[in-house]
Amino acid sequence: MARANAAYYAHHDPFADFTTAPEISQVFGEIIGLWAAVTWELLGRPRPVLFAEAGPGRGTLMADALRATGQTAPAFRAALSVHFIETSPRLAAAQAARVPEGNWHDRLETLPAEPILLVANEFLDALPIRQFVRRADEWTERYVEDGRFVELPSPCGRGQGGGGRGAFCPAAPSPRPPPARGVGDSCPAAARRSPEVFELRDSALTLAESLGARLAAQPGAALFLDYGPTESTAGDSLQAIRDGRPADPLAELGRADLTAHVNFAAFAAAARAAGAVVHGPIPQGNFLTRLGLFQRTDHLARNRHPAKALALIDAANRLVEPNRMGRLFKALVLCHPTCPTPPGFES
Ligand code: SAH
Repeated sequence: MARANAAYYAHHDPFADFTTAPEISQVFGEIIGLWAAVTWELLGRPRPVLFAEAGPGRGTLMADALRATGQTAPAFRAALSVHFIETSPRLAAAQAARVPEGNWHDRLETLPAEPILLVANEFLDALPIRQFVRRADEWTERYVEDGRFVELPSPCGRGQGGGGRGAFCPAAPSPRPPPARGVGDSCPAAARRSPEVFELRDSALTLAESLGARLAAQPGAALFLDYGPTESTAGDSLQAIRDGRPADPLAELGRADLTAHVNFAAFAAAARAAGAVVHGPIPQGNFLTRLGLFQRTDHLARNRHPAKALALIDAANRLVEPNRMGRLFKALVLCHPTCPTPPGFES
């Protein structure tokens, strides 16, 4: 999956296949810019400060955030330098057209060692996953070869289910109740149980460790908005989207967007172990509503043509309604240990 997604982002316009919150409403990026400005105040206004974005897509979020901070938080706007973490040259060019002042990096480690406010929307879900399959006590790892899944024996091996990250094995799963047995069914439940799939996103855990260590050492915060359940359980969440519709993840590798649910608990645990404080995950709908999504949208809608005003309000609703993007998408923040709770995460 790693190669398939690198090829996809390098050669395609992903926004032909799916849309994201900054592309739905300009208020999303504006709110995140103001979130960064207020968090910078809470951190004691460190200068200089990096305003960084991981996986910036078309650069829309950053362009909206910079415009909003220029208008309402000029001290933050004057203190910051913009940094992007992006691996796709095609998307980096789109970002440069929107935000010419940016500095580009292909990984976190090359950013200057200075106080940082990092934001990332739908970045973690685009990082590759590994899938491990367990049948009884046998572990295999699932790979893609010649357009189909193949399974090879996994180093997790027998009885090492709790091998932890060092061995790149999924944490020991809690056994699920066996499926209900039918009348007259004499098969042992274990033999009939379908295989369980565990997903591991090494690169996200490495990022959490690096960011956690960085935030433990100097002032800063990193906000992630992404989709996944609050508590991850076993299961296959890999999905492919092409032209806005579900597609076969194996067909035409590199031509569909491949994503999988973010395991927020694992990400948070890795960042905490490295020394950061973590708040969330909380539903995106709560986060954006607390930060004034509707007040700002109403302000923008005022004096607009009714059709335009309705479109702005529907866009805001799409981001927060529980059955649209408001509940499955979550906000999570990693912080320097002395940072007061950042805006939106107060209980
Ligand atoms: N944040 C944007 C785009 C989300 S799509 C938005 O909300 O619209 C995912 C983004 O992450 C793309 O910009 C893609 O090129 C980038 N990306 C994917 N894998 C990456 C990696 N390993 N390192 C850096 N950027 C990556």
